[in-house]
Amino acid sequence: MTFMKSHKIYTLAQLRSGEIVYKSKLREDIPQCGNHPDQNLNVYCNTCQQVICTPCSVLDHAKHSLIGLPVAFEKCQKKVKELVARVGKSKTKLNNTIEKTCKSRKKLNTMFANTKKKITEKANQEVAKIRQEEQKLLKETDRIYQKRVTTFDAAQANNSKDVTQTEHKLEEECDSLLGITFTSDGELVVAAQRSVQVYHRV
Ligand SMILES: [Zn+2]
Ligand SMILES: [Zn+2]
Repeated sequence: MTFMKSHKIYTLAQLRSGEIVYKSKLREDIPQCGNHPDQNLNVYCNTCQQVICTPCSVLDHAKHSLIGLPVAFEKCQKKVKELVARVGKSKTKLNNTIEKTCKSRKKLNTMFANTKKKITEKANQEVAKIRQEEQKLLKETDRIYQKRVTTFDAAQANNSKDVTQTEHKLEEECDSLLGITFTSDGELVVAAQRSVQVYHRV
């Protein structure tokens, strides 16, 4: 940008302190017409949307919509006001949208936390149910086992009784047939023709 070449940049603080005095070149130089260098630009052509001089307005823009600079300035000011108002409205709308988005985000976060809580609660309930079922099954298994053990014990007691009875029977039979007896300690006593042999238990 060529017009920037001669630009010096000052800070706002420098301007405020009075160190630098701002002088607009627009205030010093009154713009002149390009076609008529001795003429000031004092008419605004609505059709061409440009500032022109009086001879130009007669010569080249005769059939155009022309207005004086003060009216053009007022029009321009009005347009700027409208634009500012529109920007303000857009800003308010945007702020509302931001606020809404913020609320939605918060709602989402709350929903997310609640959903996680519900999942954990449901899982805990299911685990508790399964544990209950486990306890029930263990109790039932225990009951069946105890019943079986009682049956086994009874059967074993009966078998021992049978064995003892059989032994007694055998003792008696041996006794009557061969003269073999058992002492109360279970020692085998065999009566031979003349002597008595005692076989100690190992
Ligand atoms: Zn001109
Ligand atoms: Zn024109």
